[in-house]
Amino acid sequence: MVLKIFDRLYAFLWQDYRQNNCNTYFIDAGKRILIDPGHSHLFSHVEQGLLSLGVDPRSLDLIIVTHAHPDHMEAALLFTKPTMIAMGATDFAYLKEFAGDYYRIPEPDFFLQNGTLDVGDTKFHVLETPGHTPGSICLHWPEHNALFTGDVVFEQGIGRTDLPGGSGKLLKESIVKIEALRPHYLLPGHGGILSGEKAVRDNFRQVRDYWFRYL
Ligand SMILES: [Zn+2]
Repeated sequence: MVLKIFDRLYAFLWQDYRQNNCNTYFIDAGKRILIDPGHSHLFSHVEQGLLSLGVDPRSLDLIIVTHAHPDHMEAALLFTKPTMIAMGATDFAYLKEFAGDYYRIPEPDFFLQNGTLDVGDTKFHVLETPGHTPGSICLHWPEHNALFTGDVVFEQGIGRTDLPGGSGKLLKESIVKIEALRPHYLLPGHGGILSGEKAVRDNFRQVRDYWFRYL
């Protein structure tokens, strides 16, 4: 399902709960950016979504990976130059440690770290937000006050911390850090999207009240 969030931002929401895959986001900002392409064998739904927007999947400029779990990043391996791939350095090392040569992932074109990311005609802020994985990142788009959270925080939920490299303590700190941005849009890797500062703020509060005791 293709959902237009606002001009230049589209979500390809994953709705088949019999399979594990993530929400994918497409940003058209002078450069064509895809966030979390999902599993390779399920990539056709993203392809169909892009084609329905008149975008040739081979014309993408940049694939941003929020973290190194296969349901978010595996389809990044389908791309070849000149499409670039970016992810956190810690998660690239983590991927090599746990998946070995299985994915034969190429070295990303650049690593994402705390700070500004200039792409096309816009700017993002990268935030290193470990906890779900050691090198998870969130991406904040100040122009729209939109926050892409990967598996850090969802609508009424949080990412698991019981997978290799997970840390409840770090996830808690990461959630507090991104909450301070007071985003208008919460664009998570799974489940529904939230919009409106109050809805997003209430969601952070509910997440803290309910989940932080387990971390
Ligand atoms: Zn994950």
